Amino acid sequence: MAGEREQQLRAYVDYLRDMGVHDLYRRGEPVLAEVDSEPATAVVEFATSVVETRPGVVAGVVDALAAVVETSVVETIDDVVPSRPAFLEPPIAKLVSFDDLAPLPESRVAPEHKAAALVAIQEEIGDCTRCPLAYAGRRKIVFADGDPNARLMFVGEGPGADEDIQGLPFVGKAGQLLNNMIAAMGLKREEVYIANIVKCRPPNNRVPEPVEANTCDPFLMRQIDVVQPQVVVALGSTAAMYLLGVKQSLSGLRGRWHRCRGAKLVVTYHPAFLLRDPRMKGEAWKDLQMVMKELGLKAPAKA
Ligand code: URA
Repeated sequence: MAGEREQQLRAYVDYLRDMGVHDLYRRGEPVLAEVDSEPATAVVEFATSVVETRPGVVAGVVDALAAVVETSVVETIDDVVPSRPAFLEPPIAKLVSFDDLAPLPESRVAPEHKAAALVAIQEEIGDCTRCPLAYAGRRKIVFADGDPNARLMFVGEGPGADEDIQGLPFVGKAGQLLNNMIAAMGLKREEVYIANIVKCRPPNNRVPEPVEANTCDPFLMRQIDVVQPQVVVALGSTAAMYLLGVKQSLSGLRGRWHRCRGAKLVVTYHPAFLLRDPRMKGEAWKDLQMVMKELGLKAPAKA
């Protein structure tokens, strides 16, 4: 077990190095000098040194450490550190819309260069270790799927178990429903572009943490800038929240057009939600009809 803990800590040190945090040092006064728990001491020293060198990554580090350090260790820390100092409290993450992340590129990628431009982004991502999801059991990085010249782009939340295995977005049960939604709009899956807010599977399919989404967002933003879809469909509240930079109920965001990187954006229910509550499919269909009208699409005649 101690070996496993050491490995996990080592992985996080590597993660911090990737984030540019190179100076990890012991404090002059050992925080837990009398404590007979090496792992706990190491964790507190580690967290303290990170706080001092890079306050900006504290939120992620604190969450990440909480996730990897075994309960027994955390209890030991709680025992010896009576209350968490204010500087260790994770700051409230600031939501920034994709439009405010960066100005639109001055020149647009020509249709014949889009596929290569996307490959270049994927290569830059590489075997990414920029956020804690890299250490949370992810198997494959799920970059995207579909037509680099698509007029319509769907953005989901993050890969699930099936996507993590196959390395493609929306290939599980929710993906089958998304395929049906696309077909109902008179399109084929290969004609649209599909991506997610985060490219690595969050453990147990939990909602991505802000540090994870914020780390991944610039890549998705660049994918949107390359594809230049006419319409983006945000699938569910997580996608809507990060794309638009607002935390609002889905009902408050649906039924009207938003803007995202030069595209028109509409918010609808996540297919996984529709699987749980099929009664809402009619509402989702209304959202898709807005998109169809905008793109001049006709529903295929029923066979
Ligand atoms: N849910 C998502 O949000 N994205 C996927 O790729 C699959 C399921």
